[in-house]
Amino acid sequence: MDIYKLRDNFDAIIQRVEAARIRRSEHHIVQIVAVTKYAGTQEIRALYELGQRAFGESRVQDLKAKASELEDLPLEWHFIGRLQKNKINHLIDLDPWLMQSLDSLELALEIDKRLEAKGKKMQCLLQINSAKEETKAGVMPECAYDEYLKIIEETKHIDLVGVMTIGAHTDDEKKIKESFETTYKIYEALKPHGAEICSMGMSGDFELAIECGSNMVRIGSLFFAN
Ligand SMILES: *Cc1c(COP(=O)(O)O)cnc(C)c1O
Repeated sequence: MDIYKLRDNFDAIIQRVEAARIRRSEHHIVQIVAVTKYAGTQEIRALYELGQRAFGESRVQDLKAKASELEDLPLEWHFIGRLQKNKINHLIDLDPWLMQSLDSLELALEIDKRLEAKGKKMQCLLQINSAKEETKAGVMPECAYDEYLKIIEETKHIDLVGVMTIGAHTDDEKKIKESFETTYKIYEALKPHGAEICSMGMSGDFELAIECGSNMVRIGSLFFAN
């Protein structure tokens, strides 16, 4: 991909995030995670040179391949996909900065067991299925608060630092907004229990997500659009 186009896309994203964050509050800070599942290591390297540090991948094997090819760079890797049980050890070995897609107590217990054996810790977000869509992973919003506390209580090596959601899959902006507001409310209730990150918003809906309180957006296709 043309490096100048990538730079222009990045600039446009930063400006839009900046404008949305000011609409929320002057004091509101938003982190951008560049989702590179559609991109190669050359583009990641180019984004790094433009100042980007946080990158997201949704498949363990892709994360492994890209992280090892880019070992020379101090990148912050985020895992954002569905984690199969047989990939847990591989993910732990990659030392991701943040595992955003923890979607059940059962998975948390399994990861915790493996972390214990390896003497490691992992920062995670609880994924919430805020629009209750069958095709999506995540805990139901009405169970999320209790599930979050249970994971804190029953695991020793998982450091839960917030929540993540994917906005409702629809063109109806009201429904998308509802799914963000639902998630933000849960996040607020969990703040006294250590929640610091509310990860919501992708290429098509990140401004709305920020206006609803998101402080971490995961943007993929917009970075790499022609
Ligand atoms: C792919 C993906 C993104 C980025 O999606 P875009 O619409 O390309 O910005 C964000 N979050 C998750 C969980 C994803 O799988």
